[in-house]
Amino acid sequence: MSAAIVFIGLGNMGLPMAQNLAKAGFSVSGHDLVKASVDKLVAAGGKTEADAMAAVAKADVVITMLPASKHVESIYLGDKGILAHAKPGTLLIDCSTIAPESARKVAGAASEKGFAMLDAPVSGGTGGATAGTLTFMVGGAAATFAAAKPYLEKMGKAIYHAGDSGSGQTVKVCNNMLLGILMIGTSEAIRLGIANGMDPKVLSEIMSKSSGRNWALEVYNPCPGVMEAAPASKDYAGGFGVDLMLKDLGLAVENALATSSPVPLGALARNLYDIHSKGGSGGLDFSSIFNMLAKAK
Ligand code: NAD
Repeated sequence: MSAAIVFIGLGNMGLPMAQNLAKAGFSVSGHDLVKASVDKLVAAGGKTEADAMAAVAKADVVITMLPASKHVESIYLGDKGILAHAKPGTLLIDCSTIAPESARKVAGAASEKGFAMLDAPVSGGTGGATAGTLTFMVGGAAATFAAAKPYLEKMGKAIYHAGDSGSGQTVKVCNNMLLGILMIGTSEAIRLGIANGMDPKVLSEIMSKSSGRNWALEVYNPCPGVMEAAPASKDYAGGFGVDLMLKDLGLAVENALATSSPVPLGALARNLYDIHSKGGSGGLDFSSIFNMLAKAK
């Protein structure tokens, strides 16, 4: 008999991830505050129940994909939470991007009640979630990681065990802080070239074969027209939103304070994305920071 999975949080990422599990033949009960999202999972072969915690009580595996730390803490902890309802032996996997210390708090509470839990945030965006090609960065015990792999493999292609509880979130925070910094630096360099009369395509191509090469430049170029498939060439629609990058940079800065780590560029990147978001660009792809760095007229 295939494992009974409960999937909570069927948003931009969670819905396609849950759909991939249902497609793979697992019994998936989906839950979200938005009924239309639940209906889409049911149409794709999943099911649901009026009371999410009644479904949790019967589950072998519970997966959550929620917006932020406070949502994850409130759904796992307390009398009405997952830890109070799951049966012994249920495997718990949180795929949300949250603070490492919050992930450790929830995993610690799970462990006190005898549950094995993983933090398993992802990289790859909604495209990767739909295609089942996400990268998972996983924190928790090695045996729990091995037990979760058959499920994670149906949603992702690269599945990494980063270390103990919270390590998956730490890797995610470090990666996205670096990505935010790289995107701003890449935008600055291309803007400077354009101000000197350079064709941004020629400039990008040469830098891509030089020591400034990086993912933002080579795969996700922020200058419109350089790469047809990049969000920059589609009015910065889709992709990874400014507000999501801002959230992740906020997690990085918070974590840096908690660990007394100097992150001067990470903090500056957070401030620039904050200004960009407040300027009304929160819903655009994060490469739109290129617009904020336009030459003064
Ligand atoms: P989203 O806002 O689209 O989805 C979150 C869903 O959780 C919503 O549908 C919301 O209704 C639901 N929800 C909130 N509280 C709930 C509750 N108590 N019970 C049931 N459902 C509840 O967000 P998303 O884009 O799917 O992102 C989810 C997580 O993945 C976030 O932590 C985000 O940072 C991370 N992430 C997102 C991307 C991306 O490109 N969107 C990429 C990597 C990681």
